[in-house]
Amino acid sequence: MSFPALAFVDLETTGATATADRITEIGIVEVDENGVREWSCLVNPGTPISGFIERLTGISNAMVAAAPAFEDVAEEVKARLEGRLFIAHNARFDYGFLKNEFRRAGQDFRATVLCTVKLSRKLFPQHAKHNLDSLIERHDLTVSSRHRALGDARLIHQFWRRLQAEVAPELLAQTVKALTARPSLPAGLDPAAIDDLPEGPGVYLFYGENELPLYVGKSKELKKRVLAHFAADHAAAREMNLAQQVRRIECIATGGEIGALLREAALIKQLQPIHNRVLRRNEELCFWQLIELRAGEWRPALLPASDLGNGQQKHLYGPFKGAKEAKRTLTELAKEHRLCHSLLGLERVKPGKPCFAHQLQQCKGTCVGKEPVSFHSARLMAALGRHQLSPWPFAGPAWIREGEEVHLFDRWRHLGTAFSEADLHELLDVSPPTFDRDTYRILLKAIDLMVPLAANRPRA
Ligand SMILES: [Zn+2]
Repeated sequence: MSFPALAFVDLETTGATATADRITEIGIVEVDENGVREWSCLVNPGTPISGFIERLTGISNAMVAAAPAFEDVAEEVKARLEGRLFIAHNARFDYGFLKNEFRRAGQDFRATVLCTVKLSRKLFPQHAKHNLDSLIERHDLTVSSRHRALGDARLIHQFWRRLQAEVAPELLAQTVKALTARPSLPAGLDPAAIDDLPEGPGVYLFYGENELPLYVGKSKELKKRVLAHFAADHAAAREMNLAQQVRRIECIATGGEIGALLREAALIKQLQPIHNRVLRRNEELCFWQLIELRAGEWRPALLPASDLGNGQQKHLYGPFKGAKEAKRTLTELAKEHRLCHSLLGLERVKPGKPCFAHQLQQCKGTCVGKEPVSFHSARLMAALGRHQLSPWPFAGPAWIREGEEVHLFDRWRHLGTAFSEADLHELLDVSPPTFDRDTYRILLKAIDLMVPLAANRPRA
């Protein structure tokens, strides 16, 4: 079995976050047809190493004080890794840290990556744990210096050598191939567009040949979700068809999931991408409002969402996609509950005359005095009950904070998203948008996250 040139890599760092923390040590074991070469190097992180990290790795501030900065060893590291399969334990961590350090040094770094956690999980699914200590015990690996870069890189190399003995060659080759397979990107899409996608929550837009997006989607993990679109094993032809048309990807990172949902819904309404079929425009969105004509006599009236205003949202039922859907729903309810079509305004009948539905035994006869109007009103309210608009649970606007973003809402409407307290108060001065069904649904699931504005202003 032949594998390409390999580099077993391990890093020590000042912490766990690739964008904020820095590398303190690099260990590389190079393996190729010329044999095995080991290399390691302390790196001055340019930032203090905490006591906790110092105790874990044994790398102290004093040890790295005279060490070179990453940019001073960047060329050497690159030369050692270039053209090799990059193998690391929890490789996303090491690869992410190196990419960030190279970026800071003004260089671009890419490699084909093999993660030995994933490899172990695939080859030995019967075991629950695949951390380095578990592998040491399970495969009887010899420890030289645990938690130092070269020591851990050697352990990964040893694990790799054990696999040559413990696993059938074809199975190992197949598994490595599957784990290192690049997604089959459409011909016109630059692979770099994928590498640079944010990992966290947000919205992505797929573009084809022209300026109108083909598709807008959202995810808690943008990169993972976008990659899933290009996975080779699509069952759905429609999804495959979409993936093949993509030429350009745009991403908007958001502070969290609510922000992603709000952005997605707004962009779909605004841009109407041809591959988004679920959400519809809601320009004619409307409600049934029950109005008390006389004491105990409630009649439904159609209320367009744009007339909803800032008033109390009592006796509102909906939203319905349009007047047509509202009337159809009311007609169905009238049939089911034997309500009077005349009183509901579904039929024009002279006062005192029976409605057509009554002639068909489908109305209890409220129109001809067989049932008191107040009884009819009560039955109407009950019939509409399941369509009732949830009352806005606060006296005024409320907000949800996600990371740096603060989303402000009033009566189920998204007033906007702010990044500072000043921005937040500007949002209150702008006239609110029309009630929107998507925002309403998003918020119904997020009521627990909302904080009333007056009671507790978010610190910005
Ligand atoms: Zn009737």
